[in-house]
Amino acid sequence: MRINVITIFPEYLEGPLGLSIPGRAREAGLVNYRLIDLREYATDRHRTTDDEPFGGGGGMVMKPEPFDAALGALEGPGRVVSLSPRGCPFDHRTAVRFALESDLTLLCGRYKGIDERVTEKWVDEEVSIGDYVLSGGEPAALVVIDAVVRLLPGALGDHDSAASDSFYEGLLSAPSYTRPAEHDGRSAPGVLRSGDHSRIEAWRAWRADRATRHRRPDLLDLDAAD
Ligand code: SAM
Repeated sequence: MRINVITIFPEYLEGPLGLSIPGRAREAGLVNYRLIDLREYATDRHRTTDDEPFGGGGGMVMKPEPFDAALGALEGPGRVVSLSPRGCPFDHRTAVRFALESDLTLLCGRYKGIDERVTEKWVDEEVSIGDYVLSGGEPAALVVIDAVVRLLPGALGDHDSAASDSFYEGLLSAPSYTRPAEHDGRSAPGVLRSGDHSRIEAWRAWRADRATRHRRPDLLDLDAAD
């Protein structure tokens, strides 16, 4: 898979993409990241990528020409996704869908956002990582990349572990415990130490269901609608 990120701060992503699962997936040849500095596609000597908004009001808007040039220079940008609080919620299903793409291009906005004509011309979908406003699309791009790359076959050493993560089967996951069995006056549930796999499975299913009902009943509604 090839993931392109268009940003005015490529250095924001460099470190995190070299670490942990995104970094190991790149080393294993499962994914290639291309960080594209939008300023290189600006045409003036100040490398300007933003301008005042039409209609007035505070803040600046990212100019269309540098995005046009950066996207036009990409051979096969694949699915073009703009990170935006105005986008549809990014969730596990979206991550699975993106993981099936061979090429993904992420656009990071700053300031008031990207000139809408870029979105109209190039963007297949806008996604939001939550109902809050970040200063820029770069942390959102990292969230999307991490969630997508861990789904690539071979990215995780232990596929069984991913399969018991939240959302994989539509529910939140059961809580996890490790040694010591007693810690600070609290015990890890005896059933998890019993070695009885069918009881362990039943306990985990019960706790996953309970957590989902309490915290995310919307997930149960969604499944019912499928
Ligand atoms: N004026 C925009 C609005 O109200 O919808 C907010 C712009 S925000 C300050 C700057 C950039 O951060 C956006 O263009 C987007 O790329 C990114 N961003 C902010 N919040 C985000 C979110 N929840 N999900 C994804 N990207 C986000």
